[in-house]
Amino acid sequence: MNDGSAPNTAPSAAPARAGRFAPSPTGPLHLGSLVAALASRLDALAHGGRWLVRIEDLDHERCSDEATGSILHTLDALGFAHDGPVVVQSTRNAEYQAAFDHLLGAGSVYPCACSRREIADSLANADEGDRAVAAGVYPGTCRAGLAPGRAARAWRVRVGDTVIRWRDRCRGERIESLAAEAGDFIIRRADGYWAYQLAVVVDDHLQGITDVVRGDDLLGSTARQIHLLQLLGWPIPRYLHLPVVRGPDGHKLSKQTGARAVDDNDPVGELNRALVHLGFDAIVARDPAAWWPQAVDAWQGELPALRNPCARRAAPPVAAADDGSRR
Ligand SMILES: [Zn+2]
Repeated sequence: MNDGSAPNTAPSAAPARAGRFAPSPTGPLHLGSLVAALASRLDALAHGGRWLVRIEDLDHERCSDEATGSILHTLDALGFAHDGPVVVQSTRNAEYQAAFDHLLGAGSVYPCACSRREIADSLANADEGDRAVAAGVYPGTCRAGLAPGRAARAWRVRVGDTVIRWRDRCRGERIESLAAEAGDFIIRRADGYWAYQLAVVVDDHLQGITDVVRGDDLLGSTARQIHLLQLLGWPIPRYLHLPVVRGPDGHKLSKQTGARAVDDNDPVGELNRALVHLGFDAIVARDPAAWWPQAVDAWQGELPALRNPCARRAAPPVAAADDGSRR
């Protein structure tokens, strides 16, 4: 690991490999988020790369400094050393504004006056056989300009007829029509907050992230993020989406579903629970310092254990309320 100041001595022009863990501090770390943290760090270290931490706290009402402190403490207790400073999204307005201004100058974004209710009403009156209508995507009401007397609420990015082709390291080739599956999506929310999709793209670029490893609950966000990267003229990272950890009821583990907080006093046990979820065998080690090198060795084989669980699981729907929040 290094602090990022070392020159890249690789003969090719490929950027130095870098991965990241980007939790939303809505509660303490639980097994689901620990799996994403573990996979992203193992992947970075197994390829000689850097591993960065970013706190995605744009949604002030759901996030807290207390949860941020708890997450960082748990990462430390489990031996998750990170490179560089922790990036905190709520401090980065200027960076997001600069990207927004670029998109605005290029004519890629427009103001939208529609309330959620108005969008729902117009979809209810549209052709139910239409794929985009069925997916609940924004019908484009304000695309050609605001109607007289209407004021901007949110800002949306134009998707036109863009088709995004990308490859997930776990799930293989993907082809997505943004118009049918996402529609013109929000990058600045009606409440004034930057949308998750914009912040993630700006931060991944500025942090030099080459490999995004995260839960497959974000699979449906990837095409929108690639669209923004293309509009901004930035390189596209590699992606690896992992099956999220589900509770007994089949829902994704989260604070809302009562997921147990990771126990800082049982670091090796917690690391092994996450490793086993990824399809590997538990590692016998007396402490995290002895555990990590063995886990990195296990990851070297480029996901032998993961490939099948990934292939079996169907992609989650893109669907529903596009209010610019994280999903
Ligand atoms: Zn609108």
